[in-house]
Amino acid sequence: MALESNERESVLILGAGCFGLATAYHLASKGYSQITVLDKADEIPSHFSAGFDLNKVVRAEYPDPFYTSLSLKAIEKWRNDPLYAPHYHETGFLNVVSDAANQQTRDTIENYFASIQKQPAFDGQIQRVSGHAEVKKIVPAFQGLINGWSGYWNKMAGYCHSANASAAVYCACVNLGVKFQLGKQDGEVESLLYASARVGTTCVGARSRGGRIYLADKIILAMGPDVANLIPQIGKQVTGRCWGVVHIQLSPEEAATLRNIPVTNVRDMAFFFEPDRETNKLKFCHMGGAFTNYAYSKDGLSLPFTELSESQFVPAEDEFYIRKLLKEVLPQFADRPLIDAHLCWFADTDDSNYIIDYVPETGSSLVVLSGDSGHGFKMLPIFGEFVQALLDNGDQSETRWQWKGSQVKTGSAWRSGTSQELAGVTRAKL
Ligand SMILES: Cc1cc2nc3c(=O)[nH]c(=O)nc-3n(C[C@H](O)[C@H](O)[C@H](O)COP(=O)(O)OP(=O)(O)OC[C@H]3O[C@@H](n4cnc5c(N)ncnc54)[C@H](O)[C@@H]3O)c2cc1C
Repeated sequence: MALESNERESVLILGAGCFGLATAYHLASKGYSQITVLDKADEIPSHFSAGFDLNKVVRAEYPDPFYTSLSLKAIEKWRNDPLYAPHYHETGFLNVVSDAANQQTRDTIENYFASIQKQPAFDGQIQRVSGHAEVKKIVPAFQGLINGWSGYWNKMAGYCHSANASAAVYCACVNLGVKFQLGKQDGEVESLLYASARVGTTCVGARSRGGRIYLADKIILAMGPDVANLIPQIGKQVTGRCWGVVHIQLSPEEAATLRNIPVTNVRDMAFFFEPDRETNKLKFCHMGGAFTNYAYSKDGLSLPFTELSESQFVPAEDEFYIRKLLKEVLPQFADRPLIDAHLCWFADTDDSNYIIDYVPETGSSLVVLSGDSGHGFKMLPIFGEFVQALLDNGDQSETRWQWKGSQVKTGSAWRSGTSQELAGVTRAKL
């Protein structure tokens, strides 16, 4: 029997990024009437969140068909739900390698292609692509040499404007009565509050940096890679990592020439999107093995910098690959300044699976939503359902998403390139 709203437990969500907002919105729409969300940012979308960005790829290619099915559900909502549809642009996804790519990178493209080739939803939506002429036929606006690109074109994919989608979900939460406490004093969580219990402890709330106390029946941690600041024991299974992001500024006329181009991922170099429809900025990201930041903390954890200003750079390697890509595809912009350089942080797991589970020994009082592994934003429209299932069932039956504290970390799945420590990299001089 469904619970009446006044029978639902009170919920305190710590973090208003993608996972926190999605959870707050879904639970509020399912009758939870006492939801409070805390975030250290002064406004939502939070400048600290990975979703504070012009765009994120929305696509269903995955080495694990489990995520392909979920992504298809999410795409359905991105397309048709009035909350998300204004922020989704189905421009397609051109996923290729250049002729310089190694075999491992080529294999990754093949695996991605195979994962959607089997799905009936993609009938007539995907096409293999090989060589300059075929790429130019799909995207006539690409003016460069496009040396030996090969891979595929997926028409049922695109991107969402992640900052705007986050803002929309935030407004929808407020309309449903969710309370937000934002900013350093009242919103930034400094510690969790525990009461001793017969077995282990029960988490009963959180204290903000300004000393404000929040109590609730269920506490949900949704702080991305910062989660290890509050529960360091998760550091055995979650690693804070980052990638660099830069933009180049186009004029409205230049942007018009690239309108509706597919998200283009040249996997051995970088990926980019159509120019942002509000700012005419082209976003680039060189997605290699990502960067850790162990040198920053004293307790053996890789964590994001505390201040945003400390993340305002990208490694020189990123600039190299982005310029290389520009020369090959859009040579008219190859020397344009790279602006807005910053590191974007995510919570990485060894097997690239999310963690959506109770923290052990807390008597089902403390839930953790983490381990996005750089592929969580596309799930914004459906992520809250995953959390409700956990709350309803009382435990996590999906083994992929279980707390796995006892396993030893080995690296990161689904990604080409090796992870590097930030302290050792040369910074781009932009
Ligand atoms: C460069 C890059 C590219 C990506 N591209 C894609 C993509 O193309 N497609 C895709 O699906 N996903 C992509 N992702 C991943 C996606 O952005 C993440 O999966 C998603 O944003 C994770 O959401 P989250 O809520 O766990 O963390 P976040 O969105 O980072 O939110 C964490 C929140 O916690 C808050 N917080 C932190 N500490 C505290 C504290 N002490 N007190 C209170 N609040 C706190 C922060 O302010 C923030 O709002 C990408 C990520 C990166 C870094």
